[in-house]
Amino acid sequence: MNFNTYQYERPNFESFKQKYNSLLNLFISSTNKEASIEALNSLNSLRNNWDSKAQIAFIRNSINTKDEFYEKEQAFFDEYGPLNAELDNKYFKALVNSKFEPDLAEHFGVQFINLAKAQLKTFDSSIIPDLQLENKLVSSYSKLISSGTVEFDGKTMPITKLGPYMVSSDRNVRKNARIASVTFFEENEDEFDTIYDKLVKIRTQIALKLGFDSFTELAYLRLGRTDYDKQMVSSYRQSIVKQIIPITSTLYKQQCERLGLDKLKIYDESYRFNTGNPTPKDSADIMLKNGLKMYQELSPETGTFFEKMLNENFLDVLSKDGKAPGGYCTMISDLKMPFIFSNFNGTQGDVDVLTHETGHAFQAYQSRNLQIPEYKFPTYEASEIHSMSMEFLTWPWMNLFFGEDTEKYYYSHLSSALLFMPYGALIDHFQHDVYANPTWSPEKRKERYSELEKIYQPDRDYDGIDYLERGNLWVRQTHVFMEPFYYIDYTLAQICALQFWINNNKDKEQTWQKYLDLCSLGGSKSFLDLLNSIDLLSPFEPECISNVACEVNKFLDSIDSSSF
Ligand code: ZN
Repeated sequence: MNFNTYQYERPNFESFKQKYNSLLNLFISSTNKEASIEALNSLNSLRNNWDSKAQIAFIRNSINTKDEFYEKEQAFFDEYGPLNAELDNKYFKALVNSKFEPDLAEHFGVQFINLAKAQLKTFDSSIIPDLQLENKLVSSYSKLISSGTVEFDGKTMPITKLGPYMVSSDRNVRKNARIASVTFFEENEDEFDTIYDKLVKIRTQIALKLGFDSFTELAYLRLGRTDYDKQMVSSYRQSIVKQIIPITSTLYKQQCERLGLDKLKIYDESYRFNTGNPTPKDSADIMLKNGLKMYQELSPETGTFFEKMLNENFLDVLSKDGKAPGGYCTMISDLKMPFIFSNFNGTQGDVDVLTHETGHAFQAYQSRNLQIPEYKFPTYEASEIHSMSMEFLTWPWMNLFFGEDTEKYYYSHLSSALLFMPYGALIDHFQHDVYANPTWSPEKRKERYSELEKIYQPDRDYDGIDYLERGNLWVRQTHVFMEPFYYIDYTLAQICALQFWINNNKDKEQTWQKYLDLCSLGGSKSFLDLLNSIDLLSPFEPECISNVACEVNKFLDSIDSSSF
C-alpha cells in the first residue's frame, strides 16, 4: 500500500444514503442481538468508507491547495457534511431506542451509546436557524482574526509572522512586537466585542430551548464529557492555583534573574533563555532518519509503525509550495492508517511533530481494528494524553535532535508544561463565568477577566499596554470563540502525561506496557474510565496534582538553569 498511489473515487451521496437507510432499517427491525450486531457492523463500515474518502480528499487538498481536483472534492464533502450529520442523527436515535441496547453495550462497550445520548441532547430541529447563526458568527471571527496584519520592521505582515520578533534577544524588539501585535485587536475591539456578545447570547438561547439551565451544560455534552461536571472542574482549577502557581512563580523569578532583568514583563515571558530556545541541529531528512531510529529503539510496535508511515508515505512534513499551513494528524479507517501533516520550519516544533503528532498517530494505529467510528480517537482531554505522553517517553532520544541543548530542552519542556497550566485554567474559569452571566456587558466581561488574571497569573506585568491591562488578552484565544470550553482539556491531559513521565523514570517497561494498553483502547471508553483501566490517577483527585507538582519541581530544582 502507498498513500500517494491510492486510487480515490468520489462517492455518490444518493446511493450512500440509500444504503445507509436500508442498513439502518435492518438494524431497527433486527429480532435478535446477533442480527442487531451484524447490521450495526455493516452500517459502521459504510460510515467508515464515506469518512475515509473524505479524509483522503481533505489530506490531498491540504498537501496541494493549488490542485483543482481535490479542491472540488473538498467542496463536495463540505456540502454533504450536514446531510450526513442528519443521517447520523437518525442512527443515534435508533441506537438509544434499540431494545438490544444492553447487548450492544456488552459487545461494543457502552461509550458509543453514551456519546450518542449526549449528542442527541445537543440537537433539535427547532434550533437549526440558531445553529446557523452560531456558525456564521464563528466564521466571522475566524475571518476577522486571520485577516489581521500589522506594520512592523518596515513591512506589512500577518500577525503570526511576528513570532520570531517576539522572542528576539533584543528586548526593545520584543516589546515593540508585542505592542504591534495588539494594534490590530485594539483597532477592531468593537467588532470582536460584538461577535462575542452575540455568540454568548445565541449559545445561551440554544441551551434554553433545549431545556438546559445555561450553555455550560450543553457545551460539556457537545464535547462528549460524560463522566465529569463543572463542579469537579472548578475544584480542579483550585488545585492548580494552590499547587502549581507557587512553582510557576519561582520559575518566573528564576527566568528574570537568568535574563538579568529587574522585572519580567509580558514581552519577556516567551524569551526564556539568553542563549535562545533549544532548536534542532539537523536538516529535515536527517531528523526523519533519527525519528525512525528513535522509534525502532523505543519498542518493536513503534518501530514497525513508523517504518510503515515513512515507506508508505503516510507522513508529509516538509514545507512545499502550495501546501496548507499548520499541522494535523488524522485517521483513514479503510486503510487502517493514520496520516501526519506538517510544515517543518527548523524550530522545536519540528521535533514536536515527531513526538506529539506521532503520539496521536500511534494511538490511532494501535486502535485501528475498532470498527466503531466514534472509537477512532477519544474525547479531546483523553486524546492529548497519547501525544503529550509520547513527548516524554521519547526523552532518552532527544540528544539525537538537540545535541548539546538537550538538558536545556528537558528543562524547557517540563517547565513549559507547568507554566501553561494556570493560563489554561484561567481561560476555562473565565468561560464558566461568562456563560453563567449571559447578560454581562463586554466591559463587565473584561473586568472579570482582569480579576481572574490576578488569581491565575499573579506574576503577569503588562507594562502599561492599555489594551491588555483592560482584560482583553483572551480575545486572541480562538477556542473561546470557536470551541467553547475546549481548553482545560490540554491541562487535564498534561497532568496525565506528567504521570507517564514520573512512572517512566521509575519503571520503563511497565510504563510502556500501560501506554500501549491506553493506545489500543482508542476512544472506546470515557476519559475517567480510560485512566482507570491503566491505573492513572484522575486529575480530579486532590492528591493527583500535588504528587505531580512535587515530582516535577524536584526535577526542575536539580537542574542549574542559570547557565541557559
Ligand atoms: Zn495534540
